[in-house]
Amino acid sequence: MNEQEFQEISALLATPKKIAIIPHRSPDGDAMGSTLALYHYLLKLGQQPVVIAPNEFPEFLAWLPASDSVLIYEQDKEATATVINDSEIIFTLDFNALHRTGDMEVVLKASSAIFVMIDHHQSPDSYAKYTYSNTAFGSTCEMVYNFIVGLGHKTYIDKTIATCLYTGIVTDSGSFRFASTTSLTHRVAAELIDLGIENGKIHNNLFDNNSFESLQLLGRALQNMRIRPELKTTYITLSQQELDSFNYVKGDTEGIVNYGLAIKGIVFTAIFIEHREENIIKISFRSQGDFDVNRFAREHFNGGGHINAAGGKSYQSLEDTVKKFENIITQLNITE
Ligand code: 5GP
Ligand code: MN
Repeated sequence: MNEQEFQEISALLATPKKIAIIPHRSPDGDAMGSTLALYHYLLKLGQQPVVIAPNEFPEFLAWLPASDSVLIYEQDKEATATVINDSEIIFTLDFNALHRTGDMEVVLKASSAIFVMIDHHQSPDSYAKYTYSNTAFGSTCEMVYNFIVGLGHKTYIDKTIATCLYTGIVTDSGSFRFASTTSLTHRVAAELIDLGIENGKIHNNLFDNNSFESLQLLGRALQNMRIRPELKTTYITLSQQELDSFNYVKGDTEGIVNYGLAIKGIVFTAIFIEHREENIIKISFRSQGDFDVNRFAREHFNGGGHINAAGGKSYQSLEDTVKKFENIITQLNITE
């Protein structure tokens, strides 16, 4: 985003407008944190923003300020489509291809609003008039911070906005431990803490509110882990039946994939989760070092993401999906 574009967006935001803010489907901490941070900022500017999520967000994010004002497209397609149709500006945050919103893609494509993309994934599509895209950032929240600063409104960032921004920075950086964490990430986090956010409580809200059953499910996932030491690879499977037996609710499998990398010498891991209702296997990939899981997910499993964190899906059975995965990795020369 250049100076000229910041000026054009400033001019657009100089008068009140109807604005829709859209996270990706199955929104995570960064998607919800960034959209809600932008929502609170736009409210302060006297705008009329509304956050519309393609589908429900997980319970562990339901404490975020104004999360109760978020509209869910899947729960009322007609009403939310009308809101999108009426919007003059549409911000799309934490994704860069409209199909990441699922069904909502059709509604977004039909809109004549001005699109603004803020995102940190690779290979952005070109649907937005204003594209703020940079893979160097560990989170979209860090980019929203820069976006607000770039508009000359650093002083508008208050405790509420800071709380939302901090949430996405923490969740997308694996609590500041992934390689994408820079000194700038820590500087921004420090500024947010100076604004009075209760950072200890945010971590607690995000990570220490598990149900007993979700931890039992984690136990099952760890028992299901398979290891191929010669390929520096691990993977986990969870069938629908296993999810059901632990009364799975959305969010319960969040973060489990990371355990696959917590073993000495492992640089590549995957988790395969069966979603029988949608008839797909949802896959998450993680790596350490140079092994590019974005490329792996794009080439083999209809997905994408970042170099060290990506996702994808398979329309085969869980068993066949794992077989396919085993075949592919056996042919790969995985070195760090
Ligand atoms: P997760 O494994 O946590 O679902 O996703 C890891 C990263 O990959 C996230 O940045 C997410 O946005 C991206 N991602 C997940 N699933 C998909 C997918 O199906 N397609 C693409 N392009 N990216 C995905
Ligand atoms: Mn993100």
